[in-house]
Amino acid sequence: MTIKEMLEKREDDILSPYASRSRYTKGRASPLSHDDMRTEYQRDRDRIIHCKAFRRLMHKTQVFLSPEHDHYRTRLTHTLEVAQIGRTIARSLKLNEDLCEAIALGHDLGHTPFGHAGERVLQRCYDPAFDHCKQSLRVVEKLENLNLTYEVRNGILCHAGSALADTNEGIIVKFADRIAYINHDIDDALRAGILKADALPRELCDVLGHSHGDRIDTMVQSVIRASTDKPTVMMEPHIYDATMKLRAFLFENVYTNPEAKGEEGRAEALLEALYHYFIAHPFEMPDEYQPTVEQEGVPRAVSDYLSGMTDRYAINLYKSIFIPRVWGQKT
Ligand code: MG
Repeated sequence: MTIKEMLEKREDDILSPYASRSRYTKGRASPLSHDDMRTEYQRDRDRIIHCKAFRRLMHKTQVFLSPEHDHYRTRLTHTLEVAQIGRTIARSLKLNEDLCEAIALGHDLGHTPFGHAGERVLQRCYDPAFDHCKQSLRVVEKLENLNLTYEVRNGILCHAGSALADTNEGIIVKFADRIAYINHDIDDALRAGILKADALPRELCDVLGHSHGDRIDTMVQSVIRASTDKPTVMMEPHIYDATMKLRAFLFENVYTNPEAKGEEGRAEALLEALYHYFIAHPFEMPDEYQPTVEQEGVPRAVSDYLSGMTDRYAINLYKSIFIPRVWGQKT
């Protein structure tokens, strides 16, 4: 018996009837070479970790633009927190931890630089329907050509908004994403002094907990309690209600806070200028975007290029195109 067969047997022995089993995957767009060691979902997780778009998450904004301080979240550390929370829930529910991890690690690969500010620019300039879930799917399918299983692609596409994933592992990632960002965005806002510790609504803290760790714990445990031996994954209604109210509080007090978001207008103007520049000069984009120029048109290719940029890449590129160099300076 190969290691892969042993792992597949372990899935049969351990997982709940509501779990996705890797050997029954709906498969990939084209077959991969044989692997004796890893299940199909483990291979997907590894393919995501080794792609370039994954490494760029390190320099993409979560909430605070290009944070200099060492302890603010970036899109990469957010992604790792989602994977950790997702795996804890999946393991507790005897669902497929590897599938959950793969979806979590890939879910934000299509996020633009400068967080949702970047998304707004592409919605305005390129297509009102542009969104980071669809772009994440495009990254794994086309731009990185990772050839992932259906279940991972479906989970990535359905991680936000009203769509519900086909698998319970995909639904877990949707919860894990929210649990992660609601809690770490509070933590970062406290660190930045945007929020004062006593500003969080008391009635919500009484339900969810008074510390960062307690609140994550309450939310995670609630999903596990509500979903154990159930065909689908959910959160207990009263915890869900408090969680969504806390999220609404964040929208009012952090995501639109002028101190935290003061640079967003400038970030949008910068990306918009880059967008129009490359629409006019498509052949100045790197070679890897040229086939898309030919096959799907310039605006699609420019949107792929822009959405793939890290914050600092976009800033440096803007400088090199639009800011005159001081006389005598190299670079
Ligand atoms: Mg996310």
